[in-house]
Amino acid sequence: MLSVAKNIRVIRGVCAAALALTTAWSMSVPTAAPQPAVAQADARWWMREPILFVQTNLSETDSTVDPQELVAAVADLGANTFLMNMGGIVAQYPTRVPFHYPSRFLPAGRDLFGDVLRSAHARKIRVVGRFDLSKTQKPVFDAHPEWFFKRTNGEPAIYSGLYSTCINGGYYRQHALSILEEALDRYEVDGLFFNMFGNPSADYSGVAMGPCECDACQARYRKRFGRDVPRVADADYRAFMAESAREVAASIAELIHRKRPQAAFLTYIKDHTDGIMSESNTAVGRPLPLWPYSAGDNVARSLGSEPDKVAINLAMSFVDYPWRYAHVPRAETELRLYQNMARGAPPAVVVVGTMKQQDRQGLLAAKPVFQWHARHEDLYVGQRNAGRVMLLATGDTASYRGFYRLLTERHIPFVVSENLRWMDEEPGRFDLVIAPEAAPRELERYLREGGRLLAAGTTAPPVPVGSIVGRKTTQGYWRIHDRTALPSLTETDLLFIDGDYLEIAPLARQVLTLIPTSIFGPPEKVWSDKVETQVPGLVTATYGKGRLAFVPWDVGQLYYRHSSDTHAAFMSDVIDSLLPSGRQIRTDAHPLVEITVMDQPSRGRTLLHLVNGSGHHDTAYFLPLEMRDIRIELARDVKNARAVRLAQSLQVTSNGGYRSFTLPSLKAYEVIVIE
Ligand SMILES: [Zn+2]
Repeated sequence: MLSVAKNIRVIRGVCAAALALTTAWSMSVPTAAPQPAVAQADARWWMREPILFVQTNLSETDSTVDPQELVAAVADLGANTFLMNMGGIVAQYPTRVPFHYPSRFLPAGRDLFGDVLRSAHARKIRVVGRFDLSKTQKPVFDAHPEWFFKRTNGEPAIYSGLYSTCINGGYYRQHALSILEEALDRYEVDGLFFNMFGNPSADYSGVAMGPCECDACQARYRKRFGRDVPRVADADYRAFMAESAREVAASIAELIHRKRPQAAFLTYIKDHTDGIMSESNTAVGRPLPLWPYSAGDNVARSLGSEPDKVAINLAMSFVDYPWRYAHVPRAETELRLYQNMARGAPPAVVVVGTMKQQDRQGLLAAKPVFQWHARHEDLYVGQRNAGRVMLLATGDTASYRGFYRLLTERHIPFVVSENLRWMDEEPGRFDLVIAPEAAPRELERYLREGGRLLAAGTTAPPVPVGSIVGRKTTQGYWRIHDRTALPSLTETDLLFIDGDYLEIAPLARQVLTLIPTSIFGPPEKVWSDKVETQVPGLVTATYGKGRLAFVPWDVGQLYYRHSSDTHAAFMSDVIDSLLPSGRQIRTDAHPLVEITVMDQPSRGRTLLHLVNGSGHHDTAYFLPLEMRDIRIELARDVKNARAVRLAQSLQVTSNGGYRSFTLPSLKAYEVIVIE
């Protein structure tokens, strides 16, 4: 998977870590030590145990690393789950499967992976083996060219001397299973992780791979679409590739679960896996602005879409591929780790090479966070997002990010989902659904049955919103006529719009109307041709038992790009007008303090996580500024509120339907336990 056009979570299949455990757990544990919960029959340890995750992506030259020293460094960091290279491109054990090669740097007789596994288990550290099946060596290509990616010019795809396999070829579809079978038979791994799962769209240098025209792809594509693989990847081809990856994932999942029921199957896709991997990473060529909510966004999306899987969001220490050994700022890594935890995922950090880093900032950032987590591990198991607003992630776009940021800054707790399964599974769970663009048609039923929807963008929602004239574009304004539902906009009569809007016929009662592009220069001529139209900028309606607001322009994208406080106030007021019983939280916290509300059902309590993002500015990350006396009001009963980092009970008072307390001080991160 590589970067996406409009915006980017950019999940690059470079590194990634994982989890682990085993029944072998107890083998080296002194008899006096408490028996870990893993002795129980439930194999889903990754759903029940606190996880502190570190991944090292070894180069083949690192095969000489001392396994005991490596594991000692992992233990010293405080990690309890270690993802390390196992096989695929380079095996770190003496594999005997044909077309699978031990590292040429592996000392004679050495089983690096096996030694690490045993040493780690002796220290109660779980081990996940990393595989990359996307490339292998030339002799395999010479023997089985039909297993490999075939460019549209007929040539194989070669990178750093390695040949790219094809997800539909015999290497991925059959031979890989023999490789994995050996690995699973020989090693009591706690999980397997797969990097670069499927055919990537570009190589590590960013050069597009193009569609694969190998015989296997052609045959499958013809069978499904009745025509050849297209010369340029299109929507059908991308769907075909995703389906191909899912098919291979199904067979690998079956193998792992059959051979080692207590091992997790982890990769970057959601289907057939036990956990969803994602990355918070940087790239020097990526368009600005930075996305400081990358980690929370990735985790929220994974857990909101697939709540029964673990979400492992990796804080990638390196700056970009050409600088694998130079790290992003410590404060950036720290912020990513806190965001992971605040949204229900483990802290997870990745370095390339061994634990002996030339740039030590990535691991130095992680260590105190891991120490905190270890001291308070009961906070980080079984968390469930209690937000009552659902933000739909229909794409990874500026429109989505605009709403993500707005909700965060305004302290409106929210859940993110890429699917609509919650409509059937928990129909009453959310007070409001926000579709930042192109509301799915299934939401018609949600509205009919009493749901509330805020839909934005130039695609009409799936219910009547007036007579549609067509999509147009402008650099103009919206004139505010009616502030009944927009009480925050007292200091302006105008909002700006830059871009497309969906023209709808005039409404009986107008809230916003369009002023299209008019003369803007020289100043002497500005607005001398101005026209006030009756084109609406906001439609509100009832439908069935439900209510909706439709903003027929891309307000999320505008806010993401320009952060106009008028757009923020507008969105916030529209949200408030739709919430059936007001805000879940009221607070005077600074907009850069992110507050998440997480239930811990098994412990009968709720956690408020506060992540201080005030250290982020422009392209920089610094230590956050200390915030003082943050007032928080919760729309629920509160008997006790305890700030964990301050080790202090907070006095709770009543204020109508809200319970209030004040957090005296917030540094980088705090958790308030609500009972
Ligand atoms: Zn192919």
